[in-house]
Amino acid sequence: MTTTNLTVNTSNFADLGLIDPLLRALRDEKYETPTPIQAQAIPHLIANRDLLGCAQTGTGKTAAFTLPILQRLAGDPKPVKRGAPRVLVLTPTRELADQIGRSIRTYGRHLRLSHYVVYGGVGMGPQIQALSRGMDILVATPGRLLDLMRQKFAFLDKLEVFVLDEADRMLDMGFITDVKKIISHLPKSRQTLFFSATMPSEAARLSTTILTDPIRVTVNPVSSTAEKVEQKVLFVETKDKEALLLELLKDAGINRALVFTRTKHKANNLAEKLNRSMVRTDAIHGNKSQNARNQALRNFSMGKSRVLVATDVASRGIDVKGISHVINFEMPNEPESYVHRIGRTARAGSSGMAISFCNAEERSILRSIERTIKASISVDDTHPYHSARPAPKGDGGGRGFGFRGGRGNFAPRGGRERFGSRHR
Ligand code: AMP
Repeated sequence: MTTTNLTVNTSNFADLGLIDPLLRALRDEKYETPTPIQAQAIPHLIANRDLLGCAQTGTGKTAAFTLPILQRLAGDPKPVKRGAPRVLVLTPTRELADQIGRSIRTYGRHLRLSHYVVYGGVGMGPQIQALSRGMDILVATPGRLLDLMRQKFAFLDKLEVFVLDEADRMLDMGFITDVKKIISHLPKSRQTLFFSATMPSEAARLSTTILTDPIRVTVNPVSSTAEKVEQKVLFVETKDKEALLLELLKDAGINRALVFTRTKHKANNLAEKLNRSMVRTDAIHGNKSQNARNQALRNFSMGKSRVLVATDVASRGIDVKGISHVINFEMPNEPESYVHRIGRTARAGSSGMAISFCNAEERSILRSIERTIKASISVDDTHPYHSARPAPKGDGGGRGFGFRGGRGNFAPRGGRERFGSRHR
C-alpha cells in the first residue's frame, strides 16, 4: 500500500489534471482551491488507482471521488445499458445518497452523463423505470439496491468503478451483510474507492478484501475537525434543559441551529415544544417518511425553520450551509457521534459554534469526548440554569454574572458572546 505525500501542495484544480468541463463546473461553484483530500486523491484516481480514504463528510470527499469518476466516464463514452450502471456509489443513508446525486449533477453539468439515486422508504416504480432506461452512475443505499438486484432490475456485471462511502457507518447501522452480498456481485476487474471516517478493525478488514494496492489518504482526523468549531459545555439538570434552550434561542445570533437528541421520541417532543414557544422548528429522524424528511431539510436550509431537531442517524450527511450552531441537547452515546454532530457547522471554512448541554449522568461521556478530541471543552457557567458539578477544588463556581436574558449575542468566534466562558 502506498501512502500519498501529505505535503502535496496543489493550489488549483487544473493542476490536478481535471478536464475543462469539470473545471468550468468548479468555477461555477466558486471553488477556488482543492481541499486536502481532493488534492491528494484526484490525480491518483484519474490514474485508475484504488483508494482507501479516511475522511468524513465536510472534507470535500464527494467531489474527490465524483470528479475523477466523471472524467473517466466522459473520456470513454459508452451507450447506457438497461439496468447495468458503469459506476456504483453505495452509501448508508438516503440523505447522503441524495447529496451525492446533487454533487454528480453539479460537477457533471457540462458533461452528457446520466445518474440516478435509489433508496428505500419510497416507491420502487420510478426506480425500476429509471433502471430500465439505464444510467452511467447509480447511487444507492444497500437494502434497496439488493431488492432491485434480487428482482433482476439492477445488475452489476458492467461495473467499472465501485465506491463504498462511509463504511464505518454502514457497519454501525448493521448493513454489513447487505454490503458484502452486493460486493459478491461485482466484477473482479474494477476500480474501488473505500471511504470511512474512522477505521475500526472490521472496516479495515473489509477494505483489504475489496481493494487492490490502494493509495491511502487520511485527512481531518477526528481531533482536527473538532478544532475548527468553537465548543462550549453548559452544565444543566435534565429538567432545565428545555428552559435553557429557549433562553439561548432568544439570541438572534443563533439563526440556524441543529439540535441533537438521542431518541426519535425526544426529537418530536422537543420540536413540538419549541413550535409552541413560537420557535419555528422541524424534526428529522428515522420514523419520518422520506417526503417529511426532505421537507424538513428544505424548510431548514431555506430559513423557513430556524431549528432542526435531529437524531444521529438522521443527521448523517446533512449538508445545509450556514448552520450557525449545533446544540447537543443530549450528549451522544459515542464520542465519534459528537465529532460528526459538530461537523455539521463550520463547514467549508466558515465558523460555527457547538454547545453541549450536559447533566450529571452525561459527564462521563463528556470526558470520553474530550479524550477523543484531545482537548477540553470550555465550560460556560454564566447561564441561569447552571448546575454546579462535583468539581475539583476551585472549580465549578456559582452562577456567573455574564448572562443577560435574551439580548446579547451568542456568536461564533469573532462575534460578541453573551455567556462568559472559561477553560477548565
Ligand atoms: P463533502 O465532504 O463532500 O460533504 O463536502 C462538504 C462541503 O464542501 C460541500 O458543501 C461542498 O459543496 C463543499 N466543497 C467541496 N469541495 C470544495 C472546495 N474545493 N472548495 C469549497 N467548497 C467545497
